[in-house]
Amino acid sequence: MKERRILLLNTGGTLSSVEGGKGLKPGLGREDILEDLVVVAKGFTLEYEELYSLDSANITPAHWKGMAERIGQVYRQYEGIVVIHGTDTMAYTASMLSFMLRGIPIPVVITGSQLSISNPVADALENLRAAIYMAASGQTGVFVAFNRKIILGTRASKVSTKSFDAFESINFPYAATINAYGMTMNREVLPKPRLDFGVDSGCSENVMLIKLFPGMSPEILRHLPKMGIKGVVIEAFGLGGMPFKGQDNLCDIVKELSDQGMAVVIGSQCRYDGSSLSVYETGKLALENGAIQMYDMTTEAAVTKLMWLLEKNLNQRELRMWFNTNLVNEITVQEN
Ligand code: ASP
Repeated sequence: MKERRILLLNTGGTLSSVEGGKGLKPGLGREDILEDLVVVAKGFTLEYEELYSLDSANITPAHWKGMAERIGQVYRQYEGIVVIHGTDTMAYTASMLSFMLRGIPIPVVITGSQLSISNPVADALENLRAAIYMAASGQTGVFVAFNRKIILGTRASKVSTKSFDAFESINFPYAATINAYGMTMNREVLPKPRLDFGVDSGCSENVMLIKLFPGMSPEILRHLPKMGIKGVVIEAFGLGGMPFKGQDNLCDIVKELSDQGMAVVIGSQCRYDGSSLSVYETGKLALENGAIQMYDMTTEAAVTKLMWLLEKNLNQRELRMWFNTNLVNEITVQEN
């Protein structure tokens, strides 16, 4: 039987955390984790590497680059890679790695847990079990495994702070499901490998994410170019509505910003279904003024895709075109 070699790449989070006196912090190492995995990972050769030991609130673009490049160095030696990560920013990491590792010919499966693996009632072992089996599935691409669900990296979002059922696949089918039939792949939605795969770890930090509320002063947006910001994602109302009258007129600011070369992405505060700027007067105005549509992307995918594209020296037209091009099933470009 073929040896099933899986790398566990630990970056920290609750799964490997211990009580540190001042609250939970990452701390468990190779022996603690491998010892606990004996039962759930029978038949696999597990290797373990600690890349970081971070609460995922401290994850930065430099860590994404580090993860992508480390995976790029070692992926040929493994059937799949499991990345252990804190749940708080896991969806951002999953989206960014989906872009940086686009076309990777093995599965990279990110998981974590709501309780430390050292807690007897934790979700950690079950999540690791699903991640390891997905990593050995022969599929390709970047995924999140959580609570017996396998989610495409660009579609994962953390939706619960306490429940074990903490992640959902947003506006997209699950990549695989686990139930009485075992693990069933949804082959239609799985990413394809690229023959010319190479790690593409460029990432700009000059982005901003803004959530609208009634009465928000547009002034804040005027400051962005002065701060060196090159792209902004605005979580607008409903289908993508923004004030377009009076002193709070934001549609005018979209024009000011895009005339200065900034990428202005408009999405929705609603988690499901996505934005459509072609329905209301406000959306049409925003589009005329240069807005880029987010459609059904998650906020995590929109922010990370913008960070990734902004590093590519594209002109405004090219950036808009690439932002609205589906690269790893992150976007469905569709009107109404
Ligand atoms: N604060 C932790 C983290 O994101 C939470 C978790 O892992 O569940 O690192």
